[in-house]
Formats: sequence, structure tokens, C-alpha cells
Amino acid sequence: MNLIEELKEAFKFLPGVGSRTAQRFAFFVVKADKEKVEHLSSLLSEIKEKIHPCKICGNPTTDDICSICSDESRDHSTVLVVENIEDLYQIEATGRFKGVYHILGGHLSPLENINPENLNIKSLVERIENNGIEEIILALNPNTAGEVTSIYLFDLLKKYKNIKITKPSIGLPYGSSIHYLDNYTLIQGINERREIKE
Ligand SMILES: [Zn+2]
Repeated sequence: MNLIEELKEAFKFLPGVGSRTAQRFAFFVVKADKEKVEHLSSLLSEIKEKIHPCKICGNPTTDDICSICSDESRDHSTVLVVENIEDLYQIEATGRFKGVYHILGGHLSPLENINPENLNIKSLVERIENNGIEEIILALNPNTAGEVTSIYLFDLLKKYKNIKITKPSIGLPYGSSIHYLDNYTLIQGINERREIKE
């Protein structure tokens, strides 16, 4: 395999990149500005070295604690629980949520062997036990896996009587995901959240 073919194969590792796109990327790199390619290449090798999950919320950061968790102007008593980093970024992009986050790193799925111990659930419980948290917003995806995970978390956390557990009132067809929501619907769903009761 020559270098261009190898590069093409390497690009196929990226999500949504098939053979044709991978080939286009490979030829693009061959023709591109040397400086830009070197910049990309150094970022790619640096990122796995320097980025790790925030010790508090799981958000990828170069520091021990991410910029959201270390921002004192935010409301640290309100924790919004999301499945993935993408969900956090999407909510942050609205610029309207002033609480903090907790990234689970996925959802429960016994069929895929994803159990509570595979998600950042223990660290969420530790946060609740150690900090002055008043509200947990369960903002998991409105589909079966998200619902199953929400129910599990509610059952786990309901014993903390001084904490309000809520979920966004997301006006989205069941079976969908947070990624399909526009910013307005998303932040409205979070603002108009409702308490989960048994
Ligand atoms: Zn953090």
C-alpha cells in the first residue's frame, strides 16, 4: 500500500467518512499547504496526550478541572446530566444554561453490555454526597435507551430527599435525540423542566 492509500484508509476511521470522501481528503492533504497539514498533524498527536476528562464532570479538558466547573459565576447547585460531550457542547452553544454538567459517557444498554459501572454514575453520586447540589436535571435523549437510563438514575437518586430531580420538557418525537433539536427548543425544554415524581 502506498502512502496515499494508507492515508485514505486512515481517514475511513472517521465517522461518516466512506471510501470516496476518504480519497478526497487524502488528495486534498497531498495538495494542501504544508504548514496547515503540519498544524493538523501536531494537533492530532497532541490531543490524545493532553486532553482528559474533567475530574468533576467528565468534560474533556487540558486541566484537572474544566473551564465550566471552575467558573465561579455559574450555578454549581444545578447539575445537568447528559449522555455525551456533544450534548454538553450543544447546550453550551445556546449560551443560556448557567448551571454545570455531568457527562455520563453514554446510556445503559444491557444488550451492548453497557451497565451502570461502565458509565460515570459513581462520580455523580459522589458529587451529590460531597457538594451543595440542589437540583439534578436528567437531560438524556428522548428514546428508549435514554428513558431506561433516566429511570435508573431517578431510582438511584430519589433517596436524596433534599435534591430536586427534573427532566426537560422536550417537545420532540419519542425515539429521537437531543442532536436534532434547534437551540430554541432545547433551551426552552430545559427552562420549562418538570420535577420527576414516582
Ligand atoms: Zn468539569
